[in-house]
Amino acid sequence: MMSLRLPSIDGLLRHPACLPLAERHGRESLLAGLRQLLDELRSAVLSGQLSAVEISPEVLAGRVGERLARQQRSNVRRVFNLTGTVLHTNLGRALLPDEAIEAVHMAARYPLNLEFDLGSGKRGDRDDLIEGLIRELTGAEAVTVVNNNAAAVLLTLNSLGARKEGIISRGELIEIGGAFRIPDIMARAGVRLHEVGTTNRTHARDYEAAISPRSGLIMRVHASNYSIEGFTARVPTAELAELAHRHGLPLLEDLGSGSLLDLTRWGLPAEPTVRQALLDGADIVTFSGDKLLGGPQAGLIVGRKELIAKIKKNPLKRALRVDKLTLAALEAVLGLYRDPDRLAERLPSLRLLTRPQANIFAQASRLQPALADVLGETWNVSAVHALGMIGSGSQPVARLPSAALCLRPQVSKRLRGRCLLTLEAALRALPIPVLGRIDDDALWLDLRQLDDEPAWLAQLPHLQVDS
Ligand SMILES: *Cc1c(COP(=O)(O)O)cnc(C)c1O
Repeated sequence: MMSLRLPSIDGLLRHPACLPLAERHGRESLLAGLRQLLDELRSAVLSGQLSAVEISPEVLAGRVGERLARQQRSNVRRVFNLTGTVLHTNLGRALLPDEAIEAVHMAARYPLNLEFDLGSGKRGDRDDLIEGLIRELTGAEAVTVVNNNAAAVLLTLNSLGARKEGIISRGELIEIGGAFRIPDIMARAGVRLHEVGTTNRTHARDYEAAISPRSGLIMRVHASNYSIEGFTARVPTAELAELAHRHGLPLLEDLGSGSLLDLTRWGLPAEPTVRQALLDGADIVTFSGDKLLGGPQAGLIVGRKELIAKIKKNPLKRALRVDKLTLAALEAVLGLYRDPDRLAERLPSLRLLTRPQANIFAQASRLQPALADVLGETWNVSAVHALGMIGSGSQPVARLPSAALCLRPQVSKRLRGRCLLTLEAALRALPIPVLGRIDDDALWLDLRQLDDEPAWLAQLPHLQVDS
C-alpha cells in the first residue's frame, strides 16, 4: 500500500502559507480545518481513492483557506430578485427606505426610550412610539403592534372571541400560505368557527341567522391571494358593521396588505385602505407592515380604544410583541406617509411598483448584449415586455406591465428543460445569486427590481454554464 507523507500539524501552523490564514480566521479555526483535511486525506488514501504520496504545505493551505472562507460566508445572503414578484415573501418582502435603515442603525447601536416615557420619567409602553402616527394616518382611535399580521389575527381573535363563536363567510376561509389557514388560526385562538353562506355568495341574512347568545364576533378576511369571479355576492363592510353593531358584536377585518393610501393615484390596482375599512365601521383592522405598507415585518392592529385595551391586556401580547429594531423602522416608514407627494420616490416598494414599463424595457435593451455575450450561441437573449405581480397576496390577478430579459435555449425540445435548470442553478451560484423564473420554455429575468446595475454586470463574467 502506498504511504502518504503529510506535513505535521505543528509544522503547518508555522508555515508561511498558513500564517495569513491564522491571522484572518483565528488559530483555532485553522487548526480544526487542518486536522479535518489531513484526516480526510488519510482516509482517502486508505480506501484507495487517492494515490498522491506527497502533498505540499502550499496546496494544503490553499484547500484549508477555501474551506475557511466558505464557512465564514454568512447564510443570510443578498440576492437579485428578478422573479417579477415585487413583495416576494421568500425573498424578504419590502425593502426599507434609507430613513428606516438609519433608524434601525440608531436603535441597534444605542440605548433608547423603548418603554420609557421621557416626559414623566416613568415606565412607558412601546406602542406609544408609533401610536400617534398610525392614528393620524388611519383615523383609528388606538393601535397596538405585534410581530406580524398572522400574530395580529391570532391575538385579536383570542382577545375578543375566545370561548365564543366567530362568524365568517365560507368565501373567506382562506389559506394564506405557510400553513396559515383562517379556520386553524381561529381554533388555536379558542374561537369556535361558525361559517355562513357559500364559497361564492354570502348575504346579510346568512350572517343574521347565525347570530345567537354564543356569538362573540364577526370576522371578515380580505381574500388576498385568490379571486372569486362570476356569480358572487358579498356584504359590503358598512352593511356588515351595521348588522354586527345592531347585535352588540365587534366586526374584525383582516385586510392583509392593508394599504394606507389609495394606490390608484399611482396607477396601481385599487386595494382597500385601512382608513376606509375603519370609516365603514370595522371595529378592529389588522394588516402587515411589510406588504404594501413597505416597512418592516410587523402586524398592526388598529381600531376602537376599548377593544385595543383588551387586546393589550392579553398575556399573548407579550409573547408576540415587536422588537425595538422593528419599531424604529416602522416609525420611520410611517413618517414618509405624511408627505404622499414624495412617497413614490422615497419608499422603495412603491418606487419599484410604479417604475414605468418603458424605463424597465430600456434597461433590458441596455443589458441584453452583455448577457448574450456571456451566454454564447446556445442561448437566445432578448429584451421583451413581461408581466409581473405585486406579490404577498395583494391583487393576485392584477399584473404589472414590466420588461424582462428572456433567455431561450437553442437546443432540441428534449434538452430544453434540463438546459433551463442548469442555467437557473448557475445564476443562483453567482456571488450575488440572481433569481428569475422559468415559464414557457424560457428563463425570464424581470428587471423591475434591478436597481444595482453595476453590481449585476460586474458579476456576469463569473457565470459558468457548460453548454
Ligand atoms: C399576508 C396575510 C396574512 C399574514 O400576514 P403576515 O404579515 O405574513 O403574518 C394574514 N391575513 C391576510 C389576509 C394576508 O394577506
